[in-house]
Amino acid sequence: MTYDIAIIGGGPGGYTCADKAAKAGLKTVLFEKAFLGGTCLNRGCMPTKSLLHSAETYTALKHAADLGVNAGDVGYDFGVMHRKKNEVVEKLRQGVAQLMKAGKIDVIEGQARVEGPGKISCNGELYEAADIVVATGSKIASPPIPGKELPGVYSSNDLLIGDGVPFDSLIIIGGGVVGTECASIYLALGAQVTILEAADHILPLMDKEIAQRLALILKKQGGKVEAKAFVSKIEGEPGNMSVTWTDKKGNEQVSTAQGVLLAAGRIANTDDLFAPGAEPEMEKGAILADELGRTSVEHLYVIGDAKAHNIQLAHVAEAQGTNMAALLAGKEPPMDMRVVPNCVYTTPEVASVGLSEEQAKAEGIPVKCGKYLTGANGKCLIENTESGYVKLVAHKDTGVILGAQLVCPRATDLIGELAVAVQQALTANELSSVIHPHPTFIEMIHGAADLLRVE
Ligand SMILES: Cc1cc2nc3c(=O)[nH]c(=O)nc-3n(C[C@H](O)[C@H](O)[C@H](O)COP(=O)(O)OP(=O)(O)OC[C@H]3O[C@@H](n4cnc5c(N)ncnc54)[C@H](O)[C@@H]3O)c2cc1C
Repeated sequence: MTYDIAIIGGGPGGYTCADKAAKAGLKTVLFEKAFLGGTCLNRGCMPTKSLLHSAETYTALKHAADLGVNAGDVGYDFGVMHRKKNEVVEKLRQGVAQLMKAGKIDVIEGQARVEGPGKISCNGELYEAADIVVATGSKIASPPIPGKELPGVYSSNDLLIGDGVPFDSLIIIGGGVVGTECASIYLALGAQVTILEAADHILPLMDKEIAQRLALILKKQGGKVEAKAFVSKIEGEPGNMSVTWTDKKGNEQVSTAQGVLLAAGRIANTDDLFAPGAEPEMEKGAILADELGRTSVEHLYVIGDAKAHNIQLAHVAEAQGTNMAALLAGKEPPMDMRVVPNCVYTTPEVASVGLSEEQAKAEGIPVKCGKYLTGANGKCLIENTESGYVKLVAHKDTGVILGAQLVCPRATDLIGELAVAVQQALTANELSSVIHPHPTFIEMIHGAADLLRVE
């Protein structure tokens, strides 16, 4: 069979690219070896958010009496939480399948391999396409820690697929997005959670100030958060695990818990993807490409987590899928890849976009900052939220908004407005001249912009 475009991988990058390519009139085939929706839908974004919603609802009900609501004896059912999550995943999977069907996209179930220019094999068949797009995503990184293969050591897949694993206590190795979101789930359910992070703060890819605030909140919620913690070994059996690590002063420590979650990052998934001689240039297993995803091999492209130096987020993969389809259809890629909102769905949520104060200073850009505290916001007071803030970073001379960092309820929704502000280079005066609804969380953005207003 000959196609205009063949896409390997049906995650947010791959299925978005297929949908847009088909809409642009390209004859499209999509290969998927597991489930449509990829990591995001099946074992990433969606399962975590469903479980977080259940966990947060449980927390809210436990504190309902503070609001004058008698919720009686509040408990949770771990099995039902996971059943609900599985239902959401299944519905979304069907939605993606429907999208592919509506676009008359051929979906081939099986592991695909690039055999050479324009040639792909799958399930013993050979397919041909003018252009090939690799969208094979990422897989869990496995750092060289002795004991990591023990049965009491789990990955995010183990905790998110199927029925999950309940714990009364959990050690999380890695305080990135996956580690902190899982910490929020288990903390809310009453588990003792210890996060061990090797970098000098959790969320190492985010602003230090935000990370420190989140670490404080997680500690207040009962978690232990250790930065500059180097894990040397894991021992034990399920239900009785121990992790040996060195603290920031160089002292050896041992933490114990029922289970260990290894959440030390993700790496590009390119296993057995290319026949010998068909590989493009790669770096540590990830595919090197330019901004538009063009690899060193003509007519071979890459989008999403499989691309080297990519920001590993579903909306980045999705936007690259949209741009790729446009590129291959001979149109202008519509998505502006310069401004990428970054979100962490902990309790409370954390989000950022553009430059932080620290980054601006390092780049020698003169900035001024407006910080609006959650304690001054009516909705936050009504909802008894943790103390956080909305911080805007603007150019000192022009007032143009260069970035924002948020730790507050619905930060992951609020950041959308600030992504528009940064992308459109709005000034603090322009942002604060827009009437924001009251009472809302989003009026904190107005408040922060107002602090930067120049008359
Ligand atoms: C626990 C967790 C939570 C996350 N939460 C968020 C979040 O809240 N927001 C966010 O933006 N991002 C989140 N992410 C990251 C997000 O899931 C990824 O960035 C995103 O899924 C990447 O999309 P992709 O299309 O590049 O690849 P993937 O989603 O990984 O999809 C790749 C697909 O390719 C298939 N495949 C691989 N090799 C082959 C082959 N040879 N043949 C056929 N098929 C193949 C795989 O089976 C897979 O389905 C989270 C990730 C994790 C692990």
